[in-house]
Amino acid sequence: MDRWSGHVDADDAPLRPWVGGRGQNLSFGAVAVRFSAVEVPVGSDCRCGMRLEADWGHAETHAVHHAVWSFGVQVPRNLEWLDDLAVVTTQSSIGWRRLVYKAARLPQKENHYDFRSWTHLGEPEKTEGDLRAYLLKANGYVIGYLVAHDADYHRSWDLVDDSPDGDADERLRPRIDLVWVADVYRRQGVGAALVQKLADDFGCRVGDVSWSTPISDAGLNLARQLSPDGIWIS
Ligand SMILES: [Zn+2]
Repeated sequence: MDRWSGHVDADDAPLRPWVGGRGQNLSFGAVAVRFSAVEVPVGSDCRCGMRLEADWGHAETHAVHHAVWSFGVQVPRNLEWLDDLAVVTTQSSIGWRRLVYKAARLPQKENHYDFRSWTHLGEPEKTEGDLRAYLLKANGYVIGYLVAHDADYHRSWDLVDDSPDGDADERLRPRIDLVWVADVYRRQGVGAALVQKLADDFGCRVGDVSWSTPISDAGLNLARQLSPDGIWIS
């Protein structure tokens, strides 16, 4: 029933908008939109780690998260960046450690990890192996995140023979716990630049860094690109 006029279409009448007495009705003479079923091969999981089919009333949550996953974490105004890359340790001020915590949520969600790679939100404290995060800023956002600590238990992984059970090694090396790049900045060498920075900061060559296992496909691609013959894993 039309709510203004009380007009009721007969049961067998074709579906069409009711045209009232107004001078201009832009739906006058309109033809009904046609519908049809299509089998589309779309999954239900988004690459950012959230579900495409959001729970009722939570569509906004995914949209917000997806934007952060795509562009990076917005840099708070109260943190003074003196250059593109910031090295945050467990002894840095809380504002910096909170920013690392925010960045750590993105790979956690994307890869469905149970734990965040950064949890140091208490008082500044020294950690064994000097746990630290490298935050790369571009266009006002943190677009790259690498968390690492120094460790002295490694094995070599020959990438040519693809044998991951190589010799044990006890030299102190910087160990990559996780490396993540915002989606729109991927495949442009950002991850490689972060690993290079880690090596420079420690004072070793890029092939001397160690990669934590299990290593993701994306991580292995990056490792192979930086060190084609073989890598250190721990
Ligand atoms: Zn998404």
